[in-house]
Amino acid sequence: MSGRSKGRQELADQAMPLSAKLTVVSCRPGEGLIRELFEPLGYVVTAERHPLDEKFQEWGDGPYYTVTLAGNVRLRDLLNHLYVLVPVLDAEKHYWVGNAEVEKLLRKGGGWLAAHPHKETIVKRYLPWQRGLAREALARLVEADNLDPDAKEEAHAQEETEMEEPIRLWQQRMGAVVAVLRSERSKRVLDLGCGEGKLLKSLLEEKTFTEIVGMDVSYRSLEIASQRVKLDRMPTKQKERLKLMHGSLMYRDKRLAGYDAATVVEVIEHLDAPRLAAFERALFESARPKTVIVTTPNAEYNVKFETLPAGQFRHKDHRFEWTRGQFQQWSSGIAERFGYAVRFLPVGEEDPQVGAPTQMGVFSL
Ligand code: SAH
Repeated sequence: MSGRSKGRQELADQAMPLSAKLTVVSCRPGEGLIRELFEPLGYVVTAERHPLDEKFQEWGDGPYYTVTLAGNVRLRDLLNHLYVLVPVLDAEKHYWVGNAEVEKLLRKGGGWLAAHPHKETIVKRYLPWQRGLAREALARLVEADNLDPDAKEEAHAQEETEMEEPIRLWQQRMGAVVAVLRSERSKRVLDLGCGEGKLLKSLLEEKTFTEIVGMDVSYRSLEIASQRVKLDRMPTKQKERLKLMHGSLMYRDKRLAGYDAATVVEVIEHLDAPRLAAFERALFESARPKTVIVTTPNAEYNVKFETLPAGQFRHKDHRFEWTRGQFQQWSSGIAERFGYAVRFLPVGEEDPQVGAPTQMGVFSL
């Protein structure tokens, strides 16, 4: 399963014609599901359904199949596919499904599950009765095209912070966001893409914010955020004000509905075009907070960073950095489509030519 062989590594690394026979498996949704699961992975599938009872043909078929899979694959791939997909056929775990199952699924599904056209079905059936866990696993799979997105993100974020340090930009950004939230009289606030919790910490310091939710797709960032705000040593009353949630901004999520405000600080530039469109609907149509604050770099300002070569982004994972015109056009489009009003504020010292280093859009219903 791990793909390691003491004596014959070259064989372990080689695809070969292999077949597996599952003498009896239960699959209530039927043969269609068996094919949906295995055919995209390159197997030729045969499935033979068994009658409920051979002595009573009139009772019809039962849920059991004999399945054979034939393919030209590495042994490790075949074993990992079976490990994940046999329980998916059955979809009844006879033991408690907890967080460890998510880890197991992502480990065994490494390298193939993220690209499987039916990954949603697979995840939901692998983690039955646990919608929260399934959501978490899916969010992580979406990011799984990177080997270790967390680690890469961390390194790049560090570079960005160092570049912006002389103008203490992040402190100014947090200050500006908090000021807007205060003036909007927001009490219950979502920080979407909260990262390592810089804003959460500022929000916690002000009693007017009665409920603060930090959400991020990176589990590691949430762990760091939890340490930064010293969640484990917080008095119970404080603790009740703060919730950390693992989730993705690209999916509609009922947990995000009904808040006074959402902040999306330096996040949109990490989303590529199709994800950005999904994010717009998940936030402005589904979660629909009264106020939304979005910040993003102002690309025009980049010429002022001496260490940043011309034409490069501030952070290697940024998919884009917009001029003020581009950001305002995008924001106005959203405002119009979803019925918000939008205004724009500069963050950081404004240059007469290129504007401020960060741009902020404040949307209100
Ligand atoms: N708001 C924080 C972090 C900005 S970095 C701050 O200002 O310090 C961007 C953050 O967005 C990262 O933590 C990254 O994990 C998160 N992110 C990227 N794509 C996301 C998605 N689809 N859903 C939720 N968070 C996402």
